[in-house]
Amino acid sequence: MSNKQAAIEIVQRLQGHGFQALLAGGCVRDMLLGRPAKDYDVATDAQPADVMRLFHRTLKVGAQFGVVIVLVHNEQVEVATFRSEAGYEDGRHPTEVRFTSAAEDASRRDFTINGMFYDPRKEQVIDYVEGQADLARRVIRTIGDPEERFGEDYLRMLRAVRFSTRLGFAIEPETYAAVHRNAAKIARISGERIAAELEGILVHPNRVRGVAMLLETGLAGAIFPGFGGEPGRQAVAVLGRLRRKVSFPLALAAFFAGCPAQFALEKYEILKLSNKQVRHIEFLLSHRGSLLDAAMSLAPLKKFLAGPYFWDLYELERAIQKAAGARQGLTPLSKLRRRIRDLGDIDVKPKPLLNGHDLMRLGATPGPSLGQLAEELYVAQLEGDVTTGEQAEQWVGQWLSRHGESQ
Ligand code: ATP
Ligand code: MG
Repeated sequence: MSNKQAAIEIVQRLQGHGFQALLAGGCVRDMLLGRPAKDYDVATDAQPADVMRLFHRTLKVGAQFGVVIVLVHNEQVEVATFRSEAGYEDGRHPTEVRFTSAAEDASRRDFTINGMFYDPRKEQVIDYVEGQADLARRVIRTIGDPEERFGEDYLRMLRAVRFSTRLGFAIEPETYAAVHRNAAKIARISGERIAAELEGILVHPNRVRGVAMLLETGLAGAIFPGFGGEPGRQAVAVLGRLRRKVSFPLALAAFFAGCPAQFALEKYEILKLSNKQVRHIEFLLSHRGSLLDAAMSLAPLKKFLAGPYFWDLYELERAIQKAAGARQGLTPLSKLRRRIRDLGDIDVKPKPLLNGHDLMRLGATPGPSLGQLAEELYVAQLEGDVTTGEQAEQWVGQWLSRHGESQ
């Protein structure tokens, strides 16, 4: 059973018990656009306690805000009581939630295209906010006064850019002007929430349009203080040369391509990425330019190839060179590609020919110099200078006498 079928089943059950229940928000927008929705949400006049009573398996995530997760056939569906929100004092969270009618619930939502309901039984769209007209016009418009709506929740500014980017819709001029005026306030939103929206913008094939809006409205400079101007123009150029599908760390590295690596390394921290994403982006930022070294020997190349992010680094470098119109930069890259192809199916991460015990048996003393010896021996192995255990033992004997460690 799909998430959509699960949501419809929930709507039917609620309606069967005399409640008003509708599909709501993003899924209605996506259905009208003929796109699959990420998830199908239900809105109802049933109170959280009613919802928990009617369904066997529920999660009480935000019952005080009127939200209950209902599990049917292993699908999770958010079932929210019609509510209005008030008392946004900090531009981030409402302090008051009141249960109300569908019409009022529509008017607390962010954009007209996100503010519609759908009754699957009657096959009817319920639209209190002119969402259908804006869908037809292909515009992102706040429900009500944009200045007020962005003042309630600054994240909505970034959501406007994300929806505009992903749907290819324009942001209606008054809404856009209000983003422009209020952009600096985005800095008050948590890094994690900014990152989620930014990811939606940067990984989408239409990312160039999104980043141009982030720059023009001032959101980019508000999120990453000091970012803009020439590095901003370079960001647009490099992002435009990336392949269609990219990871968030790769897109972020491209975004910062025109900045000194140190600046970029400080700025991305604002986003509070996961450890894995941090390793990924730090690899890309700190190895920028490395692949242009035509004289790179085999060992560092194999080490690059053995790591998980080599082809992202390659893609980043390719986009940077293309954006700069630098033909001389593309040549070492295509040579490198050929070189890798000619290596064929070699093992880029072979087992070391000798382990720590072997090295000590041969006379190495435990401690930092042992690590150094092991590392140098491994490089010699990757370079192809040492290919057998016997050769490795000889090599170690020479190393130890050079370093005054042989008995
Ligand atoms: P997506 O396809 O990215 O999930 P969505 O429209 O479903 O888009 P969600 O973040 O899943 O967006 O939120 C679901 C609905 O909740 C939105 O369509 C909108 O009606 C409402 N909503 C979400 N975030 C906000 C917000 N910050 N301010 C007002 N309404 C919001
Ligand atoms: Mg959604």
